[in-house]
Amino acid sequence: MSFDLVIRGGRLVDAGGVTDADLGIRDGRIAEIGLELGAAVHEVDAAGRFVIPGGVDSHVHLGQVSSKGDVTADDFWTGSRSAVHGGTTTVVPFAAQHRGMSIRAVVDDALGRAREQMTIDYGMHVIVTDFDGPAAGELAQVAGAGIGAVKIYLTYDRLKLTGAAALEVMMAARDHGLPVMVHAEADSLVAWGRDRQVEAGELGAASHAVSHSRAAEWSGVAEAIALAETVGATVYLAHVSTPEAIELAAAARARGVDVIAETCPHYLLLDEATLDRPMEQAAPFLCSPPLRGPADRSGLLERLATGDIDLVASDHSPYTMAQKLPKGAGTTFAEAANGLPGIELRLSLLHTAAVTDGPLDMTDFVRLVAANPAKACGLFPRKGSLDIGADADLVLWDDSSFVVGWTELHDNVGYTPYEGIELTGRPTTVISAGEVVISAGEVVVGAGIDRTRQGRGSFLARQ
Ligand SMILES: [Zn+2]
Repeated sequence: MSFDLVIRGGRLVDAGGVTDADLGIRDGRIAEIGLELGAAVHEVDAAGRFVIPGGVDSHVHLGQVSSKGDVTADDFWTGSRSAVHGGTTTVVPFAAQHRGMSIRAVVDDALGRAREQMTIDYGMHVIVTDFDGPAAGELAQVAGAGIGAVKIYLTYDRLKLTGAAALEVMMAARDHGLPVMVHAEADSLVAWGRDRQVEAGELGAASHAVSHSRAAEWSGVAEAIALAETVGATVYLAHVSTPEAIELAAAARARGVDVIAETCPHYLLLDEATLDRPMEQAAPFLCSPPLRGPADRSGLLERLATGDIDLVASDHSPYTMAQKLPKGAGTTFAEAANGLPGIELRLSLLHTAAVTDGPLDMTDFVRLVAANPAKACGLFPRKGSLDIGADADLVLWDDSSFVVGWTELHDNVGYTPYEGIELTGRPTTVISAGEVVISAGEVVVGAGIDRTRQGRGSFLARQ
């Protein structure tokens, strides 16, 4: 039986190892791996190239309204378009419940918009901020519908869920077989730091980092672990920015706690010194937890290599400069929107920091950007592997270098915090569900990613 597509002569890399072989695709799935596979309708020459599973981004904010009422600059269309250009073929965004809202309704709404707009396959997490009334029953329903994880926040007045309510959510998630993703920063320390900076008239961007201190992070991480350990839930620590917080995760894991630890590319490449500037220049670099220093970056790189950090997600939080600075240059750190865009450059950023300039090899790279994020969302080995039967979501990876310019990206944010930085490694060909959607770095005419391809992605229920 012939194939729909054969990728010839590539160096196949997944988290399990490296194989030099052809890869045959039939009906959107990997059908065979071997030498000199037979005829195909279409062929891709991968000689001298790495062929890896498409990236899985388990933490992205798309088409979402923040607690302050800001709508993300990227919806499911522009976000998924941007993702696939960077070699990510699966994204898992959030349906956000704000207080008083129905969990069921926000998930149905997000899935409806995703069905119309997503150009690549996707899962869906749900943010829970209010677990009173019918919420527990609704969480059971959306768990049955296949959501990937439940997310809670330990800080932010309009989002935080602590103490008994957080334990209730963790127990429910445990019973439904779902991890609980936690934004783990201690609210008491963040609020105290913020108020103290405001009282002192220290209103610049650097004060954001003072209030979201390292201690606030490790204290929040310790609480998240303690909550999960108490009830036997799986805790997914989002966007960990310091080695000491990872040490807590590693120690908990050694005690048998089920911990998933995530970091993000911006904590591996960008520095806190970017905040010591006027607000208009610093705003693109504001995120929570904040950027840290060189020792943190090298400490995180080491823990990517040891496996203490499980995965690298973008935490793509796309806000325009107008949203970042609602009062223009006079916006204070307490008023500015927090979050960095990064969905498109995630693979290139990690490759540069951790493979080209760091201790990782390509199997580590695939483990961090594809295999482990897929596992965390209950999508492995359908996504994140090169197993026979897996979805044919594939990337031909090239080691060449390039200089980042926002005008060449495909998001809707208007800037990138990585402008002018030289990166090494990028996708040249991207295959989604067996279809070549990007070739030689360019959208394939007629079959590529343009507006007519909205809605081609499929929802992936957690397995
Ligand atoms: Zn986030």
